[in-house]
Amino acid sequence: MERHLEATEITGHFVSGKPDATGSKKLERFDPATGEKIGYVTLADETTVNAAVESSISAFQEWRLVEPAKRAVVLRRFCDLVSARADELCRLITSEHGKTLLDSKGELQRGIENIEYATGIAEHLKGEHSKAVGPDIDSWSELSPLGVVVGITPFNFPVMVPLWMFPLAVACGNAFILKPSEKVPTAGYRLAELFSEAGLPDGVFNVLQGDHETAGWLLKHPDIQAASFVGSTPVAKSIYKASGESGKRVQALGGAKNHAVVLPDADIESATNAIMGAAYGSCGQRCMALSVVVSVGDETADAVADVLTKKVAGLNIGPGMDDLDMGPLNSGPQRDRIVDLIQEGVDQGATILIDGRRHGSYQQPGFYLGGTLFDNVQPGMSIYDEEIFGPVLCLVRVRTASDAMRIINDSQYGNGTCIFTRDGYSARTYANEVEAGMVGINVPLPVPVANHSFGGWKDSRFGDLAAYGPDGVRFYTRRKTITERWTSSAGGRGIDFAFPGSRPAG
Ligand code: NAD
Repeated sequence: MERHLEATEITGHFVSGKPDATGSKKLERFDPATGEKIGYVTLADETTVNAAVESSISAFQEWRLVEPAKRAVVLRRFCDLVSARADELCRLITSEHGKTLLDSKGELQRGIENIEYATGIAEHLKGEHSKAVGPDIDSWSELSPLGVVVGITPFNFPVMVPLWMFPLAVACGNAFILKPSEKVPTAGYRLAELFSEAGLPDGVFNVLQGDHETAGWLLKHPDIQAASFVGSTPVAKSIYKASGESGKRVQALGGAKNHAVVLPDADIESATNAIMGAAYGSCGQRCMALSVVVSVGDETADAVADVLTKKVAGLNIGPGMDDLDMGPLNSGPQRDRIVDLIQEGVDQGATILIDGRRHGSYQQPGFYLGGTLFDNVQPGMSIYDEEIFGPVLCLVRVRTASDAMRIINDSQYGNGTCIFTRDGYSARTYANEVEAGMVGINVPLPVPVANHSFGGWKDSRFGDLAAYGPDGVRFYTRRKTITERWTSSAGGRGIDFAFPGSRPAG
């Protein structure tokens, strides 16, 4: 009979192809939909980390020699298994994160696209060749794996963000250690089981459960060559600094405060529908979530505020398994922090149009909070300056499109942004001038597909290369350039003390 895993069954790590329950600390886990305690997760200590790194090092020595096309066969089988187990994986995501089942399906699909991309690894690693760069000399560049790479992932995409990282890293010939968020430990573990079932050799992909301490041991380990991190900005920044000091390659994606601009010529009904999904979907717990809407002109701002007020008041909220508009937040402390920020917004003078604390679900067991809508928000208010990461949308009023651009470009963050307009020239100017890594034109969540790469600007990303796609291949490999001469005459060339290239052509 097929294995069907429940979120409560996983409590430990997956190392060298099997479960591992070692570690000196345990953390309690809660069901976001009911608020009830559902078990615990074991956190890897330094001994467990060292053993996992040893397992990865020895697996890497063999895996790096496997031809890319053969690695791709394992990835194809993994992709098929993940697709076949989609219902089970989506239920795992929903039960430990809280998001709706439909949202989990979207997350899984975007993850699967990244496995698909990795199956093309033979093409991605093809390298570059130059014939006749000198007399009888050819030269080519090839992309070699790095060794053991670690991925540290956030709670809000338990499947998609790990799938941004490890399929491509492994396809490139590396061994990978995933440390999922301690708040959502199960899905990453299940992916490791499925990868193993697909034929991946033991130790090429290990999963360690843990918190910031576990991450710290991994990051300071001398045999880890590179780190992919996705999470909040303060942690991204500190990991970037520490990795630089220890000589590790790093890509550290951080937090966000994504703005949408509504121009006076926009179709208000379709713009506000798009904004609703992007602001309140997954309870606002997406790094690409829209958290600020900048309306140009009072007439536009009034129309946006009126329509959004009605739509936010009509949000249906309940357990993620019921597939309503919004599920619960992931944790109680996170909800408490958001409730405090809502009060700060009121105290600092923003106009609260809809107060999520008054929604019926807020009184229910579970980590629910209604959608909140603020108008007349300004920079300097904490609801504007801080990443809330919850179902709170801030409306900002400006006079001109240039004012909108200025306010956005002054933001500390530069992850995603979008503009709603019917005018091509305005849209093009916006895309050219706005300081953000991902731009939508009448598209509220401009998350790049897997054959592009994902990454923000400013404090939304530290490190040169973005996640997945072509940047991912570059991140998980290092370039080697070989210059080769074969001549027919033995010892035919004399000594040349000049630097290559100093002789005139012909
Ligand atoms: P977080 O920064 O609290 O945790 C992320 C991961 O880092 C977890 O695995 C955690 O255990 C680990 N961690 C925490 N403190 C650490 C430390 N001091 N040293 C090393 N590791 C540490 O983030 P979160 O609350 O899990 O996720 C939400 C955040 O992630 C938001 O800020 C969101 O915008 C961001 N995010 C960004 C992207 C992106 O692509 N830019 C995508 C998803 C989420």
